[in-house]
Amino acid sequence: MNEFSNNPCGNCTTNYGCCSLKGACGLMLTKEEYGKHFKGHAEKLVIRASRNFVIVSSRDGHFCPHLDANGCEIYHDRPIDCRLFPYMMNHVFENKWQVRIVFHDKSDCPKKNQLIQPSGEAKALAREFAQAVFGKDRPITVTFERRKTLVSRARNLVDKMLARL
Ligand code: SF4
Ligand code: SF4
Repeated sequence: MNEFSNNPCGNCTTNYGCCSLKGACGLMLTKEEYGKHFKGHAEKLVIRASRNFVIVSSRDGHFCPHLDANGCEIYHDRPIDCRLFPYMMNHVFENKWQVRIVFHDKSDCPKKNQLIQPSGEAKALAREFAQAVFGKDRPITVTFERRKTLVSRARNLVDKMLARL
Protein backbone atom coordinates (compact mmCIF):
# COMPACT_ATOMS: atom_id res chain seq x y z
CA MET A 1 0.00 0.00 0.00
CA ASN A 2 1.13 3.58 -0.57
CA GLU A 3 -0.19 6.94 0.56
CA PHE A 4 -3.57 6.05 -0.88
CA SER A 5 -5.24 4.31 2.01
CA ASN A 6 -7.87 2.30 0.22
CA ASN A 7 -6.41 1.43 -3.14
CA PRO A 8 -3.04 -0.10 -4.11
CA CYS A 9 -3.33 1.48 -7.57
CA GLY A 10 -1.90 4.78 -6.34
CA ASN A 11 -1.93 7.60 -8.84
CA CYS A 12 -2.66 5.46 -11.89
CA THR A 13 -4.20 7.66 -14.54
CA THR A 14 -6.83 4.93 -15.11
CA ASN A 15 -6.73 5.54 -18.83
CA TYR A 16 -6.41 1.85 -19.39
CA GLY A 17 -10.01 0.73 -19.49
CA CYS A 18 -10.10 -0.14 -15.79
CA CYS A 19 -11.83 2.45 -13.53
CA SER A 20 -12.34 4.70 -16.54
CA LEU A 21 -14.92 2.13 -17.68
CA LYS A 22 -14.05 2.97 -21.25
CA GLY A 23 -14.47 0.65 -24.15
CA ALA A 24 -17.09 -1.72 -25.40
CA CYS A 25 -16.56 -4.33 -22.70
CA GLY A 26 -17.46 -2.27 -19.62
CA LEU A 27 -17.84 -3.55 -16.10
CA MET A 28 -19.91 -6.70 -15.60
CA LEU A 29 -22.14 -6.51 -12.54
CA THR A 30 -24.52 -8.80 -10.80
CA LYS A 31 -27.94 -7.23 -10.43
CA GLU A 32 -27.27 -6.86 -6.71
CA GLU A 33 -23.96 -5.03 -7.33
CA TYR A 34 -25.65 -2.78 -9.84
CA GLY A 35 -28.49 -1.93 -7.48
CA LYS A 36 -26.17 -1.32 -4.53
CA HIS A 37 -23.43 0.72 -6.19
CA PHE A 38 -24.40 1.99 -9.65
CA LYS A 39 -28.14 2.44 -10.01
CA GLY A 40 -27.98 5.87 -8.36
CA HIS A 41 -25.36 7.08 -10.89
CA ALA A 42 -27.20 6.19 -14.09
CA GLU A 43 -26.67 9.65 -15.61
CA LYS A 44 -22.90 9.00 -15.80
CA LEU A 45 -23.18 5.55 -17.32
CA VAL A 46 -24.12 3.64 -20.43
CA ILE A 47 -26.09 0.70 -19.09
CA ARG A 48 -26.71 -2.55 -20.91
CA ALA A 49 -28.86 -5.01 -19.02
CA SER A 50 -29.13 -8.65 -20.02
CA ARG A 51 -31.64 -11.02 -18.44
CA ASN A 52 -29.20 -11.94 -15.69
CA PHE A 53 -26.55 -9.27 -15.29
CA VAL A 54 -25.74 -5.64 -16.11
CA ILE A 55 -22.83 -4.12 -18.03
CA VAL A 56 -21.92 -0.49 -17.38
CA SER A 57 -19.45 1.72 -19.21
CA SER A 58 -18.67 5.42 -19.04
CA ARG A 59 -20.84 8.14 -20.54
CA ASP A 60 -19.52 11.50 -21.80
CA GLY A 61 -15.98 10.99 -20.48
CA HIS A 62 -17.02 10.28 -16.91
CA PHE A 63 -14.92 7.77 -15.00
CA CYS A 64 -16.47 5.27 -12.61
CA PRO A 65 -18.63 7.24 -10.14
CA HIS A 66 -16.77 5.59 -7.26
CA LEU A 67 -13.33 6.80 -8.28
CA ASP A 68 -12.14 9.77 -6.23
CA ALA A 69 -8.77 11.35 -5.46
CA ASN A 70 -7.99 8.52 -3.03
CA GLY A 71 -8.83 5.77 -5.46
CA CYS A 72 -11.90 3.56 -5.24
CA GLU A 73 -14.22 4.77 -2.48
CA ILE A 74 -15.81 1.30 -2.23
CA TYR A 75 -12.53 -0.61 -2.59
CA HIS A 76 -13.31 -3.15 0.13
CA ASP A 77 -16.78 -3.80 -1.26
CA ARG A 78 -16.02 -3.40 -4.95
CA PRO A 79 -17.75 -5.63 -7.50
CA ILE A 80 -16.38 -9.04 -8.43
CA ASP A 81 -15.34 -7.83 -11.88
CA CYS A 82 -13.20 -5.11 -10.24
CA ARG A 83 -11.61 -7.68 -7.93
CA LEU A 84 -10.83 -9.84 -10.93
CA PHE A 85 -8.91 -7.10 -12.75
CA PRO A 86 -6.24 -7.15 -14.32
CA TYR A 87 -7.94 -10.28 -15.57
CA MET A 88 -11.05 -9.64 -17.63
CA MET A 89 -14.08 -11.76 -18.45
CA ASN A 90 -14.69 -11.63 -22.18
CA HIS A 91 -17.16 -14.41 -22.78
CA VAL A 92 -20.15 -15.07 -20.53
CA PHE A 93 -22.65 -17.42 -22.10
CA GLU A 94 -25.60 -19.33 -20.86
CA ASN A 95 -27.60 -21.97 -22.61
CA LYS A 96 -30.03 -24.47 -21.18
CA TRP A 97 -27.26 -26.98 -20.46
CA GLN A 98 -24.55 -24.87 -18.91
CA VAL A 99 -22.94 -21.52 -18.16
CA ARG A 100 -19.51 -20.78 -19.61
CA ILE A 101 -17.16 -17.96 -18.68
CA VAL A 102 -13.86 -17.32 -20.42
CA PHE A 103 -11.40 -14.82 -18.98
CA HIS A 104 -7.97 -13.54 -20.02
CA ASP A 105 -5.10 -11.44 -18.72
CA LYS A 106 -4.56 -9.18 -21.72
CA SER A 107 -5.57 -5.89 -20.07
CA ASP A 108 -3.19 -2.92 -20.32
CA CYS A 109 -2.97 -2.30 -16.57
CA PRO A 110 0.45 -0.68 -15.91
CA LYS A 111 0.73 -2.49 -12.56
CA LYS A 112 -0.34 -5.83 -13.88
CA ASN A 113 2.76 -7.64 -12.63
CA GLN A 114 2.20 -6.37 -9.06
CA LEU A 115 -1.56 -6.75 -8.92
CA ILE A 116 -2.22 -9.92 -10.82
CA GLN A 117 -3.28 -12.91 -8.77
CA PRO A 118 -2.74 -16.61 -9.49
CA SER A 119 -5.08 -17.75 -12.26
CA GLY A 120 -6.68 -20.25 -9.83
CA GLU A 121 -7.86 -17.38 -7.60
CA ALA A 122 -9.14 -15.50 -10.64
CA LYS A 123 -11.00 -18.62 -11.74
CA ALA A 124 -12.68 -18.79 -8.32
CA LEU A 125 -13.77 -15.15 -8.66
CA ALA A 126 -15.20 -15.74 -12.13
CA ARG A 127 -17.08 -18.75 -10.73
CA GLU A 128 -18.38 -16.57 -7.85
CA PHE A 129 -19.70 -14.14 -10.47
CA ALA A 130 -21.36 -16.96 -12.43
CA GLN A 131 -22.98 -18.40 -9.30
CA ALA A 132 -24.23 -14.98 -8.19
CA VAL A 133 -25.70 -14.35 -11.63
CA PHE A 134 -26.97 -17.75 -12.74
CA GLY A 135 -27.42 -19.60 -9.43
CA LYS A 136 -25.37 -22.22 -7.61
CA ASP A 137 -27.13 -25.22 -9.11
CA ARG A 138 -26.13 -24.62 -12.74
CA PRO A 139 -23.17 -26.49 -14.29
CA ILE A 140 -20.52 -23.78 -14.72
CA THR A 141 -17.35 -23.97 -16.82
CA VAL A 142 -14.69 -21.32 -16.25
CA THR A 143 -11.76 -21.21 -18.66
CA PHE A 144 -8.61 -19.10 -18.55
CA GLU A 145 -7.58 -18.23 -22.09
CA ARG A 146 -4.03 -17.01 -22.48
CA ARG A 147 -4.53 -16.32 -26.16
CA LYS A 148 -7.22 -16.73 -28.75
CA THR A 149 -6.88 -19.85 -30.86
CA LEU A 150 -8.90 -21.24 -33.72
CA VAL A 151 -10.40 -23.74 -31.29
CA SER A 152 -11.43 -21.03 -28.80
CA ARG A 153 -12.94 -18.88 -31.56
CA ALA A 154 -14.93 -21.87 -32.82
CA ARG A 155 -16.06 -22.65 -29.26
CA ASN A 156 -17.26 -19.08 -28.72
CA LEU A 157 -19.16 -19.22 -32.00
CA VAL A 158 -20.83 -22.49 -31.04
CA ASP A 159 -21.75 -21.00 -27.63
CA LYS A 160 -23.37 -18.03 -29.35
CA MET A 161 -25.42 -20.32 -31.57
CA LEU A 162 -26.43 -22.57 -28.66
CA ALA A 163 -27.41 -19.53 -26.56
CA ARG A 164 -30.14 -18.81 -29.09
CA LEU A 165 -31.77 -22.25 -28.64
S1 SF4 B 1 -15.99 0.32 -8.34
FE1 SF4 B 1 -13.95 1.00 -7.77
S2 SF4 B 1 -12.53 -0.54 -8.60
FE2 SF4 B 1 -14.50 -0.76 -9.65
S3 SF4 B 1 -14.37 0.49 -11.51
FE3 SF4 B 1 -15.27 1.76 -9.89
S4 SF4 B 1 -13.57 2.84 -8.94
FE4 SF4 B 1 -12.73 1.14 -10.12
S1 SF4 C 1 -5.97 -1.93 -11.70
FE1 SF4 C 1 -4.33 -1.18 -13.05
S2 SF4 C 1 -5.34 0.11 -14.57
FE2 SF4 C 1 -6.74 -0.14 -12.85
S3 SF4 C 1 -6.38 1.65 -11.52
FE3 SF4 C 1 -5.10 -0.06 -10.79
S4 SF4 C 1 -3.13 0.20 -11.78
FE4 SF4 C 1 -4.60 1.44 -12.93
